[in-house]
Amino acid sequence: MLDIFIPLEPYAMPRPRFGRGGHAHNTDKSRSWKQAAAIYMQMAVREYEKPVFAEGPVGVRLRFYFKLPKSAHRKGDPPKEQWHIGRMDFDNLAKTVCDAANGILWKDDRQVSQALIQKIRVAQDATIKWGVDVGVWELEELPVDVSDDLAVCSSCGMLYSPTRRPNPDRRNYCPKCKEDKVPQRDASRDYYDRKRR
Ligand SMILES: [Zn+2]
Repeated sequence: MLDIFIPLEPYAMPRPRFGRGGHAHNTDKSRSWKQAAAIYMQMAVREYEKPVFAEGPVGVRLRFYFKLPKSAHRKGDPPKEQWHIGRMDFDNLAKTVCDAANGILWKDDRQVSQALIQKIRVAQDATIKWGVDVGVWELEELPVDVSDDLAVCSSCGMLYSPTRRPNPDRRNYCPKCKEDKVPQRDASRDYYDRKRR
């Protein structure tokens, strides 16, 4: 997977509004956002032939990091990272990034045939205050067992790419939870539950 971090505040493409004469206005900001994002993408893929995925289906993972507003800062109990349910819809956010990537990551964003989009509000003590994390990969030809591509972690509910086919009869854990030794914790809890019965 090609991974690119764009250190810009996430920006959602506004729904087109039409002024007198039928011209769409309010597009200057989205144009300059896309231009800046394109520069970061170009820097990241400098060593590749351009566009990187000139043809064929691609999958993307877009992680939008939103800043924690000053009003939400707490001295005693600093907020941790959490889902962002504030303004800006996932589809409009994705549109801005995918437009910016045209001609750089892919020829045309209609090639994007699979996507995972996450909106996250950063923790108070986060070193990076905002940004967009873009992951792109080439998709295998269909038919594939789609459940092989993405799985839901039994512990945290996060989507992840499993390295082998998840067993539907067992718990399946994302790399993060595995690293945190959640499977071992669950297993020992199961063990004690069984013993108690
Ligand atoms: Zn997990």
